[in-house]
Amino acid sequence: MKILIIEDEPKTGKFLKKGLAEAGFVADVAADGRDGLHLALTESYDLVVLDVMLPGIDGWGVLREMRRAGKQVPVLFLTARDQVDDRVKGLELGADDYLVKPFAFSELLARVRTLLRRGNAGQVLEITKVADLELDLPRHRVVRAGKRIALTVKEFALLELLMRRQGEVLPRSLIASQIWDMNFDSDTNVIDVAVRRLRAKIDDGFDVKLIRTVRGMGYILEAPEP
Ligand code: CA
Repeated sequence: MKILIIEDEPKTGKFLKKGLAEAGFVADVAADGRDGLHLALTESYDLVVLDVMLPGIDGWGVLREMRRAGKQVPVLFLTARDQVDDRVKGLELGADDYLVKPFAFSELLARVRTLLRRGNAGQVLEITKVADLELDLPRHRVVRAGKRIALTVKEFALLELLMRRQGEVLPRSLIASQIWDMNFDSDTNVIDVAVRRLRAKIDDGFDVKLIRTVRGMGYILEAPEP
């Protein structure tokens, strides 16, 4: 899951990026409205955290241009305490939620998770199921055939990506950028090792294997044909 943070205060941007990384998200930070809008229009994100007061183009301008360009990605905007009209304005312009500064990181994380669960089309994606494997997002829990499986933050994020895009071959480059914030040229051995570990937890001891390697292409998670 990839998040774009558009925030001009370096300290806040850094703090958000670090916190989101610890929670298993990859985040890019843009320090002004122009860069932020450019990234929002050219890259693919699952969510945008948007500060209102920004140099270049302000948060409203960024949001307006994103929606005009047809970008339906969920937007959580950050507003100052004394700007009471911001809330209405932001929601009118097509933002999905807001937070008043200063806020606790736990509060931001809760809002982010809720918005991501809702997805782009507004549907609730709380529990994803593939065969007898269940991923419970709100409770951060994975169960296979009724048995609880303990995963690390990265393994959980990796499984979530594979399950959300079940039946699709995911190239290592895509997994790298979505989960590890790495470029295609980086050492992809990290990904192979992580997938191997995840597979050992998900598939070992079960007759039906859900995660497969597609030689020369990447990885796929799917329920086999009956
Ligand atoms: Ca600001």
